[in-house]
Amino acid sequence: MHSSTQTTTRGFAVVETQQMYGPVTPSAPETLGPRVLELSGILQTTLDLEQQITLFARNIRDDVPIDGLEYNNPMAGVQVRHGEQATHKAAYDLQLEDRSLGTICFFRDLPFSEDELRTLENLLCALVYPLRNALSYLKALRLASHDPLTGIQNRLALEHALQREIDLARRQHAPLSMLVIDADHFKRFNDEYGHAFGDDVLRALANAMSATVRRSDLLFRYGGEEFVVLASHTGRDGARLLAERIREAVAGIRTIDGRPVDLSVSIGVAELAEDESPNSLFERADQAVYQAKQAGRNRVELA
Ligand code: GH3
Ligand code: MG
Ligand code: MG
Repeated sequence: MHSSTQTTTRGFAVVETQQMYGPVTPSAPETLGPRVLELSGILQTTLDLEQQITLFARNIRDDVPIDGLEYNNPMAGVQVRHGEQATHKAAYDLQLEDRSLGTICFFRDLPFSEDELRTLENLLCALVYPLRNALSYLKALRLASHDPLTGIQNRLALEHALQREIDLARRQHAPLSMLVIDADHFKRFNDEYGHAFGDDVLRALANAMSATVRRSDLLFRYGGEEFVVLASHTGRDGARLLAERIREAVAGIRTIDGRPVDLSVSIGVAELAEDESPNSLFERADQAVYQAKQAGRNRVELA
């Protein structure tokens, strides 16, 4: 990771800024000491990555006092922080059987002694196996809840999120709206230019919508060329504006892969009514899409 190394100890590179980088490759489990085995047992009680890092941070404080730590794994899209950042850092590149497991950085106001660094390196050996399992679990969860074509969440994720968002809206007495979005005359992209181009259009569509919705809005690919947005804290009027913004963003796509396209979407909007079921909310928004189609497409209709 860093090239300007000062000294190197046991595969850990010490750099000028008090940062240590280098591969942490753990010893085989059977050669680990009792403290490491004990810690490993604690970490294995969860597959939740954030929980695991938090458990690790809490459990090593008696071995080496730290002010905070940060775990980063850009490949898995994960960043977990615990405690505070501080002047002195010791950072490690975690590796297991040639697989990168991300980096972990310890922070402290006081410099780390050589002994403490050795202890940290030893304790990290307890983390790598449980961490590998948590990362695999996270990957499996992602695969189950995300659409491989567009990378956005899928229908299964929508089913979970919808119930959760409805419960939350009721508890907070906040409005919740659903947008059902259907691409207009999508079939002709496949018919005219082939299925692969149709796939590119779907990706462009998902990208345009992702870029338009707020961070708090949830976007899903419901199926085929149909998408759903869940907008929390958003009533009918706000949802109509959001739908218009999405409609305009999609209509603004003029070319895909250098080919001119005439892309548009029809959108149905429904606000959650009192005591309404998830299915009923979806059906009303879906019915509004049907009306938008009937009324000429490339438009927004409210339920
Ligand atoms: P409308 O305006 O009435 O919605 O017309 P439409 O052509 O969009 O509607 P229809 O539901 O008849 O067709 C949807 C098309 O979307 C048919 C299907 O081949 C295509 N489609 C669905 N999923 C995918 C996909 O993953 N990739 C590609 N390339 N096409 C898909
Ligand atoms: Mg459709
Ligand atoms: Mg369609």
